[in-house]
Parts: sequence; C-alpha cells; structure tokens
Amino acid sequence: MKELFPFIGYESGELLVEEVPVKRLVQELGTPLYVYSRKALEFWFREFDDAFSDVEHLTCFAVKANSNVNILKLLKDLGAGADTVSMGEIFRALTAGIPPEKIVFAGVGKRKEEVEYALERGILMFNVESEGELELIESVASRLGVEAPVAVRVNPDVDPKTHPYISTGLKAAKFGVTLEEAERLYLFAKESKYLRPVGVHFHIGSQITDVSAFGEAAGKVSELVKVLRDRGVELEFFDAGGGLGINYHPEEEVVPAERLARELIPIVKELGLKLILEPGRRVTGNAGLLLTEVLYVKERGDKTFYVVDAGMNDIARPALYGAYHHVVPVVGREGKKRRVDVVGPICETGDIIARDRELPEVKPGDYLAVLSAGAYGFSMSSNYNSRPRPAEVLVDGASYRVIRQRESLADLISREF
Ligand SMILES: *Cc1c(COP(=O)(O)O)cnc(C)c1O
Repeated sequence: MKELFPFIGYESGELLVEEVPVKRLVQELGTPLYVYSRKALEFWFREFDDAFSDVEHLTCFAVKANSNVNILKLLKDLGAGADTVSMGEIFRALTAGIPPEKIVFAGVGKRKEEVEYALERGILMFNVESEGELELIESVASRLGVEAPVAVRVNPDVDPKTHPYISTGLKAAKFGVTLEEAERLYLFAKESKYLRPVGVHFHIGSQITDVSAFGEAAGKVSELVKVLRDRGVELEFFDAGGGLGINYHPEEEVVPAERLARELIPIVKELGLKLILEPGRRVTGNAGLLLTEVLYVKERGDKTFYVVDAGMNDIARPALYGAYHHVVPVVGREGKKRRVDVVGPICETGDIIARDRELPEVKPGDYLAVLSAGAYGFSMSSNYNSRPRPAEVLVDGASYRVIRQRESLADLISREF
C-alpha cells in the first residue's frame, strides 16, 4: 500500500483503510461516513505512550477528541485512562470500562451535580480551574463526607504558537489560574479536611508542533512544585495536559512523541512525581477519515465548486478555525486536475471543507475522503440544518463494524414531544 498515513493509503488506485477498500464502505453504508482504523489507533496510542516508558506515567486520552464508547474501549484495552471535561464524558469513560482511578476531570465550568457525580465514583483527581470551583468541591465533599483529590490547573503564560482559539496557556485565556494564585489555592486545600492536593495540572493548547513550549511550561510549573514542597504540600502527579500536534498533510513530517518526552521526562524525574498525559488529537486524529459523495460540480466564472454531502455540521473544524484537512479521491485518477473549493450543503458561506485545492476532475456520484478526521470530527458534529449525523465504522484488518448507527429522521425530533 502507498500510505498517506499509517494504515490509510492507495492500492491499485483505490483508497484503503487497512485492507478494506473504502468504496465498499460507502456503497454498503452510505455517506457521509466516519471511518477509523483499529491498527492506526493502536499505532498512534503506542507511539505516544511508549515514548514515556522511562518514567511512571498514565496516558489519559482526552475524550472530547473522539467520544465514541467503542473507541474508548479500544484505548482502555491498551491501558489508557481518560481526561474528561464533563459528567457526560465521565459517564462515557466509565461505560467503556475505564476505571475511575484512571479518570481526571478538567473544565472551567463544572456544575455541582457534575462534582457530585465524579466524587461519588471516585475519580483520580479534579483539575481545578478557579477558587470558586475549589470551594464548591470542598462543600460537596464535606456533604458526602469524603476527601476530594485535587490538582490546580495552572496557566503558565506561555505561547504555544498555535491557533488563538486553541491556545489555552496564555494569561488572557479563561483556563486555569496564575502561578501565584495556585500557591494560595494549594495552601487552602492543604488546610481543608475535605480536600487533598494530589497533583498539578497544565494544558497549554492544541495542535502544538513546537515542543519547546511544553518544556517552558513544565519548567515554570516545576518551580511551583518545589515552592509547595517547601510549604509542606507534597504532590504525587504532574499532569502535563495534551496538545501535541499531528501532520494534517500526508507529506508534512510528524513531530515524534519522543521529542515531547525529552522535554518532560527530565523534569518529572527530578521532581520524583508520576506523569499524567492527556493526548487527544494525537491518538485519533490521523486514525480516521470522513467519506463524502460529490453531489454537483458547479462552475461560476473562473471558480469551480465541488458540492459534497458532508457539511460543517459533520466536520466543524474548517469552518470554525479555518483548519486544513487534506482531501483525496476515493478512486485515484490520473489526468487533469482542477483548482476547486470543496463545499458542503449547509446554508452558511463558511461551509467550506477545503479551499482552493488541486483535485482531480470528478463527476456527481464520485467519492472524496477528508483525511485526519479522527479527532474533533464526529465529536464536534451537530444536527444543524436538521441533518442526521453520520454513521461511524471501525475497520479491523479485512473486516469492519459499525460503531455508531447513522441517525434517522425520527431521531431528529425524538425529544420534541
Ligand atoms: C482538549 C484538552 C486536551 C486534549 O488536547 P489535544 O490537543 O487533543 O491533545 C487535554 N487536556 C485538556 C484539559 C483539554 O481541554
């Protein structure tokens, strides 16, 4: 196979996921269709997790990147824990069989019932994002008569040089607290009967390819750990968040997870803490793709649009961030290429999946694949324009299994009575 990404590529001009020609999938299951490769998921999880084998660590998959219970189960079997940002995600992780002691819970807006739910189930720790939240956790814990394990999410004020909407570690972002405030919160937690400070957390952004930002952030946070130690606060976990980027273009090089490991390992070794990591995009991003059918080829002046049946409700990233997704034909074609915009059917000008691309000539009824769609693809989808959401399918070798059925028209209105 001529690979675009591991386990995804062409053979005799046909696009395959592992050993399955994707043409067969669209013919049997229709479009739009999300497809994942089991082997690729395993490959990317191991590539990441193995990079940290030198130190005691727990890789908590960021559930928001891909929340399908079957994908979570598969990752659980590889040893993954879960990084969650809502009660719904904790529910999904537990349903997949991920033990509560491998679940961390972040998010700036945790509600009381979410705190209760997490405490009752005995999660590993809360990644606390404000003083108000810490007080809420304390009051819920005291009512339940338990001690809540907490880490403070620190905002180390570093610039990860990624898209502003996915930069979370700058002072201006809503996430976490400053290093100074963190110290105060730890001392408060140490004094409380119902709070147990167990870790420190930071997550500086997403799609980061300059790994030095991680080292810079970890360095700042390790200073805090030392200060806390002097003040009698002993921690167990150093949670360095997620954010390692992927290559969205098959010809672009991917940053090896080892490079991230080299930034973090010396720091946790020196501190003697257990490392927690929260990769999302990195694990599932290039293990999935979205298949779509060409509905029309529309010419206007010198512009050509390929109108396809997947829209921004199915894959939001291009419209939301102007993100690049590589688009390829399902059946490779020699010959003439055209410069086109690939657009969806949604009534929004921003519903552009790929702008100004060189693509082969197609006709209605042909299929295209939107690559790197395994993370923040289906999980960000919606029913906007009353479109039932796509099915999801998991390929394993020469076979495949539907892991989420396509929504029906009845599903659209099922809660409106
Ligand atoms: C989104 C998120 C992650 C995962 O980010 P990726 O870029 O997908 O690795 C990890 N931790 C937290 C707290 C997050 O909000």
